[in-house]
Amino acid sequence: MAQVQLNNIGKTYPNGFEALHPTSFAIEEGEFTVLVGPSGCGKSTLLRMVAGLEEITSGELQIAGRVVNDADPADRDIAMVFQNYALYPHMTVRKNIGYGLKNRGTPKDVIAQKVVEAANLLNLDDYLDRKPSQLSGGQRQRVAMGRAIVRDPALFLFDEPLSNLDAKLRNQMRIEIKALQRRLGVTSIYVTHDQVEAMTMADRIIVMNAGRIEQIGSPAEVYHNPASTFVASFMGAPPMNLMPAIGVDGQIMLGEQTLGPAQHQGPVTAGIRPEDFILDPAGPLSFDIQIIEELGAHRLLHGTLGSETVTVHVNNDVVAAPGAQRLSVKPGAICLFDATSGKRL
Ligand code: ATP
Repeated sequence: MAQVQLNNIGKTYPNGFEALHPTSFAIEEGEFTVLVGPSGCGKSTLLRMVAGLEEITSGELQIAGRVVNDADPADRDIAMVFQNYALYPHMTVRKNIGYGLKNRGTPKDVIAQKVVEAANLLNLDDYLDRKPSQLSGGQRQRVAMGRAIVRDPALFLFDEPLSNLDAKLRNQMRIEIKALQRRLGVTSIYVTHDQVEAMTMADRIIVMNAGRIEQIGSPAEVYHNPASTFVASFMGAPPMNLMPAIGVDGQIMLGEQTLGPAQHQGPVTAGIRPEDFILDPAGPLSFDIQIIEELGAHRLLHGTLGSETVTVHVNNDVVAAPGAQRLSVKPGAICLFDATSGKRL
């Protein structure tokens, strides 16, 4: 039995705006699912409907086998971690973590024990008597996690929990959250607009665009086999190079140049990841490098391939200089998309 089951769940706001077109998917027990997409795509709306903070206007939602469309948030056996932590400033860390349990009438000694266990898991042992204002951003985020953990929920919901942290702390916290989720094995839905977070944390990614699901898959599937040009350009930084091309006699042509073999006749959008080009003196393609971006371990070569602007990703041991170079494409690396709809062919 799936832990979370959405059957044709949709959302139309009272003003008539359809923020989520009817959507169905299931999340298995213990799975870490990331909802990712640009601002306004409907990911928070979807998460808030699962949480019970937003009315479901069509379809059926099940959590742990129970239809919960009309259940109160408190009766859904979920715990939510927000971007703004939502900690009580006048309470200590200990009280903040235990607050939900106290509200539910859990005995004091049980609360005390659970709080200590959570604090231990989150490396907060030394901070239990501090107030939130005496903590760093990462520590506050951990307190918010602690509050979710002590409730032993069937489901964790995360709404962009790391957006308020600086880049370095974000990287550290995403590893911590992922490790913790693995350890606890609690089914989780995590909302972010950050594709790196999605790639690094998810067992499964749901890519959303304008109120619809574009693709559901593992990080590797979504990255290597994008279902549309939208997914191809949203996942990956820098994104996949997308070029208008033409299939002729088993070859994909970019103007006069041959990108590589593929079975398609006529106009097509060809997609090639930056790392799937090779700087190769014997390569068939003529690449004019304009700008080189040094990234330490790697470099990005920005230039033109015929009339297209293209980015090539190479390791730092590859010598490159601005000007004309030859390129080839790794075998099997060309993704073809419908030239009109952008859907994968
Ligand atoms: P962000 O990353 O910016 O939070 P999101 O993907 O989470 O974006 P939602 O907050 O789910 O997006 O909003 C989806 C769409 O629904 C947006 O176009 C938004 O303007 C619209 N929307 C949100 N709340 C309401 C509302 N109460 N009434 C009408 N439209 C709304």
